[in-house]
Amino acid sequence: MSTPSSGARFAVIGGGLSGIGAAFALHRAGHTVELFEQDSVLGGRCGFDTLGGRPIMMGGKNIGRHYEQLREFIAASGHRAFEEFGINSSQLINDELVTLDNPGIAGFVRHLLRMGSPVDAARMLYYGARVRFDERHRFLGSDYFGAAGNDDVALGAHFGADFGRNVLRPLTVRLNAAEPDEVYLGAFGVSLGMVQDRYDQLVDGMQPVLDWFAGQVAVRLNTRVDRLVVRDSRVAGLDASENGGPTTFSEYDGVVVAIPAYAAAALLEPVIPALSKALSEVAYYPSTVAVVQYEKPFFGSTVRSIAFDSGPCSAAGVYGVNDLDIVRYTFSGREARPVPDAQQLARWIDEAETKVRNHLGGPPVARVRTETRSWAAAHCAYLPDHAGFRTVVREQTESVAGLALAGDYLLGAQLEACYRSGVAAARALVA
Ligand SMILES: Cc1cc2nc3c(=O)[nH]c(=O)nc-3n(C[C@H](O)[C@H](O)[C@H](O)COP(=O)(O)OP(=O)(O)OC[C@H]3O[C@@H](n4cnc5c(N)ncnc54)[C@H](O)[C@@H]3O)c2cc1C
Repeated sequence: MSTPSSGARFAVIGGGLSGIGAAFALHRAGHTVELFEQDSVLGGRCGFDTLGGRPIMMGGKNIGRHYEQLREFIAASGHRAFEEFGINSSQLINDELVTLDNPGIAGFVRHLLRMGSPVDAARMLYYGARVRFDERHRFLGSDYFGAAGNDDVALGAHFGADFGRNVLRPLTVRLNAAEPDEVYLGAFGVSLGMVQDRYDQLVDGMQPVLDWFAGQVAVRLNTRVDRLVVRDSRVAGLDASENGGPTTFSEYDGVVVAIPAYAAAALLEPVIPALSKALSEVAYYPSTVAVVQYEKPFFGSTVRSIAFDSGPCSAAGVYGVNDLDIVRYTFSGREARPVPDAQQLARWIDEAETKVRNHLGGPPVARVRTETRSWAAAHCAYLPDHAGFRTVVREQTESVAGLALAGDYLLGAQLEACYRSGVAAARALVA
């Protein structure tokens, strides 16, 4: 159903889930929207690719049961089949495979007590309860996790070393590609919210949803925005170049900048240097993903995924519950930096595959095909004093009429938080 146009013209820069959330909200509110994406496809760090002709997602793909706004968007595109993804239930600790399969609260407490001191276990349970009983703590900017004085020392410093290694690190390397000494308590609610969620994935991936979206909203692919044009403290439009051609100016009533913080910092530097400086302080860390298809199932039905406590491979797991022959290896954390070249990555995959085989047992299984993708800035790891950062960002953004920001650094890096940041930016723009 088409909505009558308000006459206002908006642009959204960035075709990841943050920009899509903003563009769809503006479109739904009856405005004319154009979305600019420098790549040839939408989706950004969802990382659309193919494996032997089958569409796969190398990046963000798992959709939590709590991802309400994203699920509404997916539902708006028509009926889409989901399959349960399950949780990452096994972990390699000091060469021992520990499997936590629906352990119940008593089993979980016993596990925490094995991993660290009673104080660490109690603190973890307390933080977990804050998130479980208050939805707001699943996002950055919550008054509890982001409170001043809580958020200026690294997360690892709030817990003992053993707990940091055995419990925190598997979370931080997977969710932020960072070590526990590189993330802060302000973001811990986001991580705990992700751990407490249950996940599904779209049977046909996200691509059909985004193809539908591109039929609703004007999308300009292969078009890079080079400059935001601001006149008299008001956004006038932007300069963009299609396929590397000449730069052309387009006029807009407002612009949502929905790109990662470092990219937004570069774009905004000439027009709002103080905002650019704040954005440039947000940390991102690299990650590499290899998706390998084997001749026959590689994992069994009891252990479907293993998180490692050392080495460049942070986790290896099945691509989906019905894809036991396809394994996704993730290389993140300090030992996986810098992003590897092809030869080094081949060695890392060999090592990770051997590690998994040694723990699962059974004869070697031949590889059929492999796809890999590296991101130099894969995961947002935020920054200390996120509440202070948000204040600067809000004040600076409001100093220019017609400007709004969206992205993984505002509410959190999970797909739902990115999408919500886009919706919030759209609302701020038209308010
Ligand atoms: C390996 C990996 C696995 C993940 N797994 C999950 C998961 O299972 N579940 C989950 O919830 N989250 C997951 N995430 C996190 C999630 O995928 C990301 O946080 C999210 O996709 C980021 O969306 P975004 O729109 O903010 O940024 P992006 O997806 O990076 O989109 C920004 C877009 O802007 C474009 N752009 C940048 N500059 C310009 C410019 N000047 N002009 C035009 N276009 C520009 C870029 O090309 C890009 O397409 C994962 C992330 C990674 C890397």
